[in-house]
Amino acid sequence: MTIAMNTTANGAEHPYRLAARWQGAGGRTVLDVAGRKLGGESFAIIAGPCTVESREQTLETARAVSAAGASLFRGGAYKPRTSPYAFQGLGQEGLRLLSEARELTGLPIVTEVMDARDLEALLEVADVLQIGARNMQNYTLLTEVGRAGKPVLLKRGLSSTIQELLMSAEYVLKEGNEAVILCERGIRTFETAYRFTLDLAAVPVLKELSHLPVIVDPSHAAGRRELVTPLSLAAAAVGADGIIVEVHPAPETAICDGRQSLVADQFGEFADRVQAAAAVAGKVPSRPTGALV
Ligand code: PEP
Ligand code: MN
Repeated sequence: MTIAMNTTANGAEHPYRLAARWQGAGGRTVLDVAGRKLGGESFAIIAGPCTVESREQTLETARAVSAAGASLFRGGAYKPRTSPYAFQGLGQEGLRLLSEARELTGLPIVTEVMDARDLEALLEVADVLQIGARNMQNYTLLTEVGRAGKPVLLKRGLSSTIQELLMSAEYVLKEGNEAVILCERGIRTFETAYRFTLDLAAVPVLKELSHLPVIVDPSHAAGRRELVTPLSLAAAAVGADGIIVEVHPAPETAICDGRQSLVADQFGEFADRVQAAAAVAGKVPSRPTGALV
């Protein structure tokens, strides 16, 4: 099959009808998620546990990241696990705990959708629907979340090219949903010293090609907490519109991804350092409209 080509402002051919950077205008999409800006001058820190485990763990993390100035709260209720025998998420009970976290802190919720059959329940709670790396090319799911009309955080597949990521974004955009956030989360290479290879060059390249906001997930790329701070600082410096990071009150007890989770009571210092790096790249923290800090 040949994909019809369009041209960008500089005349280069591309197949991105809707995701391409607006011709001539140099325009960028800036999303407003419950008062938090994603894109433009803003730098958003999305933080929370890999998975919702319990009421105490969820609310304690939400309180800590909120106090540290996080922009949105993340947490999975439906988890894509490599092993079918591993914990698969709390499902509906997890969603209920996420809505409690939102009530407690006011932070908008980012949570993953794996199956269109869960969409109705997810739409009650989620402010942003995450499409995980493993579902980046699940085209029927992309079409369904496009129709649902909620902002979508689209992660790059484990072995996907930048072109494939943008073509997946087209599936959401073509349903009339313009609120897509692209996320670089590390790709498979020959390197085994860390979990995935964080492709930071993807950030400026995606920004060159597309008007959509671009964020980075250093947690899943790193696989261990010691690397999360340097990779987050680098993501901010390279011009990302934000990061999404995993945080846990007691990572050694976490059901999932504890090794790469930041410790909740050290999160404030981390967030300040990353926002300082983002400031060097000309960004300001994404905080609620009208907030004093
Ligand atoms: C996650 O965010 O917890 C997750 C499973 O991410 P990814 O899809 O990038 O592996
Ligand atoms: Mn995880």
